[in-house]
Amino acid sequence: MNDTNELSPILCARCGETALGVENPPFPGEQGDELRARTCRNCWSEWLKVEVMVINELQLNFMDPRSLEILAGHMREFLLLDNSAESGE
Ligand SMILES: [Zn+2]
Repeated sequence: MNDTNELSPILCARCGETALGVENPPFPGEQGDELRARTCRNCWSEWLKVEVMVINELQLNFMDPRSLEILAGHMREFLLLDNSAESGE
């Protein structure tokens, strides 16, 4: 059984570059795995800046599960995580 190799480059869903994935995704489980597998560190750090603006603009509250859902939706949109799911080539 292989260790999950966190240092192998991934193909980023957003910028299309092959680069290292997100090191410590702030999500457990599937969502974190997906970030690690499909988002490069550059795009992630860009999202972190955008995230602040989204939170301020929408006045999201981390105590509110719905706010977190909204934020996750913006994140997926920004990182283009939903894009390739149904695009068969
Ligand atoms: Zn990227």
